[in-house]
Amino acid sequence: LFQHAEFYTTVNHLRDLPPESAIEVAFAGRSNAGKSSAINTLANRTRLAFVSKTPGRTQHINYFSLGQNRFLVDLPGYGYAKVPGAIKDHWRELLAQYLAQREQLAGLILIMDSRHPMTDLDRQMLEWFLPTGKPVHCLLTKSDKLNRSDSSSTLRFVSKELAALSPLYTAQLFSSPKRLGMDEAGEVFARWLGI
Ligand code: GDP
Repeated sequence: LFQHAEFYTTVNHLRDLPPESAIEVAFAGRSNAGKSSAINTLANRTRLAFVSKTPGRTQHINYFSLGQNRFLVDLPGYGYAKVPGAIKDHWRELLAQYLAQREQLAGLILIMDSRHPMTDLDRQMLEWFLPTGKPVHCLLTKSDKLNRSDSSSTLRFVSKELAALSPLYTAQLFSSPKRLGMDEAGEVFARWLGI
């Protein structure tokens, strides 16, 4: 099913969120954490998330259709210093309200660079999402850049921090070039979508 992912639409206002979505799973993360690579790796389509990197679309919510009214939602990357204040305020509002209010959203996949996990902005995302009672699964990307002992201590640290917030918050190691952690991430994704 994931093989059939297609770009669907770009949304810049909550009122434009597609009502035809039955279930969706969203991907969020700091700019450059590896979100596009993770989406492409999971979808097995090298250019799938390319569209969300197109200038003008980077601050928007991008929908990819998976068929059967299921959608993958690529949320705007955060923490990019060069974005002007007014745009930052807009995406902040868009993200906060989307996470808090979107009923069709089954769960959040949070992308964090395994070398810099749990930044203030990551914690902000988790805080906005916490009241919904929905699950979060963190992909600790670029784990190929850490040795075995550093990657397992990072995973332990993040898992512990997440467990303190909610029993529904989990984490795993991930590497796009090494395709490490694909099965585990794909299983969570499919389970949330009910496929
Ligand atoms: P995004 O801004 O979060 O969408 O990040 P990208 O997916 O564009 O990745 C940012 C940079 O990190 C690119 O140069 C990627 O090639 C690199 N990158 C992403 N994921 C990985 C990974 O798992 N391992 C390594 N070594 N590099 C990665």
